[in-house]
Amino acid sequence: MAATIPLGRGARYNRGMTQRTTIARDITATGIALHSGVAVTMRLAPAPSGHGIVFHRADLKADIPALYSNVSETRLGTVIEKDGAKVGVVEHLMAAAAGLEIDDLLVTLDGPEPPILDGDALSYLALLESGGIHEQPERRKAIRVLKPVMVQQGDARATLLPAEALSYDFELSFPVIGEQYFEFAFSRAGFRCEIAPARTFGFLKELDALNSMNLARGATLLNTLALDDGGVVNKDVQRFADEFVRHKILDAIGDMALAGAPLLARFEGVKSGHTLNNALLRALFADPANHELVEL
Ligand SMILES: [Zn+2]
Repeated sequence: MAATIPLGRGARYNRGMTQRTTIARDITATGIALHSGVAVTMRLAPAPSGHGIVFHRADLKADIPALYSNVSETRLGTVIEKDGAKVGVVEHLMAAAAGLEIDDLLVTLDGPEPPILDGDALSYLALLESGGIHEQPERRKAIRVLKPVMVQQGDARATLLPAEALSYDFELSFPVIGEQYFEFAFSRAGFRCEIAPARTFGFLKELDALNSMNLARGATLLNTLALDDGGVVNKDVQRFADEFVRHKILDAIGDMALAGAPLLARFEGVKSGHTLNNALLRALFADPANHELVEL
């Protein structure tokens, strides 16, 4: 039976979703796009069971399903594209949807990216929650990983391993940041507290070059942790000492959500990013023996 579940209350919500879910009501938000720097209005709307997450470019009258197979660029964020219409930086909103276990959603934009909001997933989480969660009639299914799948590039790699529960671990190493490691056993409550607040980050010395390529034009000291040779410039907005590795897990959760269904696997990332995340899903789905669909 379909029912709207009040968030934060009720044992069923805390036990994990067995039904597909969408949101109960439309939500609209306006903000600045991270790369193009333009103002964008985003409407999040309920979608029927089985619809999946689909981005709609209202300005182009184009639908772009949020699927790994539609990923066309991965250099500075994950871009999905269909029939020439693109949406960039989908990963933070996708992470928030995955963190709330939302399966069906229509995201309408009048520009090229969702608004970056606070540079985290928490701001999207709050928006989605303000719409309420609505249970669908269909059972939720997960993609269970049956064999280890790994992709690598230089000293970076990303791996999916068979596991009984979804988890993410990540290690990174950057100049100034040093080495950070974080392990996250997925739960909705854990995602909200440990991962969703982690902001995106960037290096100040790269900003001029990015801006000259029409990138990072919407990055500000409020939505991005900015690094120079001495470390974080805007420490006042930093939420965790190891915020960088937590954000890499946030990105990985968003990128893995492009599988089209929740994964049942252990994700391990070493210095990886959007490019390897997408290659990992392409490798997973290249061989039907790597996975099976199971009811949750
Ligand atoms: Zn990110």
